[in-house]
This record gives sequence, structure tokens and C-alpha cells, in this order.
Amino acid sequence: MGRLAIITGGSSGIGRHLVSAFAREGYDVAFGHFQDDAAAAEVIAEVEAQGGRAFAMSCDVADMLATEEFVASAENWAGEAPEVLINNAGIQTWAPLLELSEERWDAVIRTNLKGTFVNTQVVAKHMIAGGKRGSIINLGSGCNKHAFPRLVDYTASKGGIEQFTKVSAVELGPHGIRVNCVAPGAIETARTKAEAPDYAKTWGDVTPLRRVGTPEDIAGPVLFLAGDQSAFVTGQTIWVDGGVFTQA
Ligand code: NDP
Repeated sequence: MGRLAIITGGSSGIGRHLVSAFAREGYDVAFGHFQDDAAAAEVIAEVEAQGGRAFAMSCDVADMLATEEFVASAENWAGEAPEVLINNAGIQTWAPLLELSEERWDAVIRTNLKGTFVNTQVVAKHMIAGGKRGSIINLGSGCNKHAFPRLVDYTASKGGIEQFTKVSAVELGPHGIRVNCVAPGAIETARTKAEAPDYAKTWGDVTPLRRVGTPEDIAGPVLFLAGDQSAFVTGQTIWVDGGVFTQA
């Protein structure tokens, strides 16, 4: 039996790659998803084909009761309390401030920010009750470094996650739980490609490392923060953006 890692939003994009990467490292991976049951079943099949173990459940990240059920089921499946949580699930809207609907604002803040709070609280309680030292990694965004027009709701949610990371790290540190944030730059996934077919070229041209990011680029730093090599690192944000948001 491996160590249990819980990953939200594991059915697509970066989360899907994180599920595979953690399973390859020997973790038992329990992931949440929302609407796409078929994609979740594909991810489990992929992990099992590489000899790993994965468990999935549809669960709205911002629903406290559903999350308690998901985490209890994951713990039951793995036979042990979680050691890693990756708060990856997130949604994004492109809309100017003056046109952004109240409904959309609520959805983005609820999924991204409240979802991070709900999963952190539920999983941290399981880590403490199970006597585990734990590592929690929150997905922020490189867009926090700048002021991107038409991303006011998303940027507010990700800025909130960065601050949430710091306060959680201070409060959970005495329990042996570390909390850090990984802030990706432009990462090519099915979603970003669908939003802009020339996404890779557009971002590759303006990134100092002269290419767009991939989900693999995110998995390395997340694995580092999950493992013992980062045992004294907490409350930090690692920017994984090829330098694109460092330049003026
Ligand atoms: P995707 O859109 O590909 O995947 C989002 C995942 O979140 C899906 O598994 C989806 O499940 C799940 N999800 C959405 N809403 C909910 C909900 N209410 N409850 C539970 N699960 C939900 O996203 P990406 O891989 O592109 O992004 C992953 C993370 O990385 C996000 O937090 C994003 O903000 C961040 N990020 C991404 C960047 C990029 O360039 N791709 C850049 C910077 C940050 P389902 O499909 O089943 O609905």
C-alpha cells in the first residue's frame, strides 16, 4: 500500500497529469472531479495500465458535506489517512469587470477559493486524526504577478489562494502539515488550446525559455513540495512560468 495523495480536479488538464505522476511515484491517488465521469474512468484506466492505484469520486470542491464523504471514502479505500492534498480544481472566466455577471463572480470565487478552504480543512483534520505529517499544495496562478484585464474574478481568487496558503501554513505547521502554492504560467492543456488554437506559439514567443509550459512542468515542483526534499519549506509560492511573468 502506498501513501495516500488526494487531488481535486483530477479528470483533465494539469490535474490529470498530476494523478499519473503521483501514481508513478507509488502514491495511492484519490481524485475528485465534477461533471465528466467518462474522463475520470479513463484516468483510472491509465493509472492501472501503468501498475498504479487510483480512486475517483464526483464531488463539488466547495460542498463541505460532499467533500467530507469523498475524503472519508478515499481514506477507506486506501486504508490510511491522507499525506498529500493538491487543491488543483479551478475554473476561469474571461470577462471585463463592467460586464462580469454576479453569478459568474460567485462561481469562480466559490470553486477556486472556497474549494481550497473546504478541502484544506477537511483533509487537514484527517491528517491530524491519522497522526500524519502532511503536505498541501494549492494551485495559484502566474497572473497574480500582474493585472490582467478580463480576469478580475480569477485573479482575485488566485490572489486569495496565495494569502490563504501563508496563513494555513502558519496555523497547520505545529501539526506537522506544510502548505505551499505552485503558480503556473501559461500551460498548454486541452482547455487552453480550445480557448486559443495558437496558444503555444503566442505564449512561447513571449516566454524567456521560448516555449509554452506543459502539465509535466507543473508535476515536478508539485512532487518536490509533496515529498521530504522540501521538508522545511512551508508558506511559499513557487512560480512555474518559464520566466514569463518575471520580466517587466
Ligand atoms: P481544467 O479545466 O483542464 O480542469 C479543471 C478540473 O477541475 C477538471 O477536472 C474539473 O472536473 C474540475 N472542476 C471544475 N469545477 C469543479 C468543482 N466545482 N468541483 C470539483 N471539481 C471541479 O483546468 P487546468 O488543468 O487548466 O487547470 C488546473 C489548475 O491550474 C486550476 O486551478 C487553474 O486555475 C490552474 N492554472 C492553470 C493554468 C493553465 O494555463 N492551464 C495557468 C495557471 C493556473 P470536470 O471536468 O469533471 O468538471
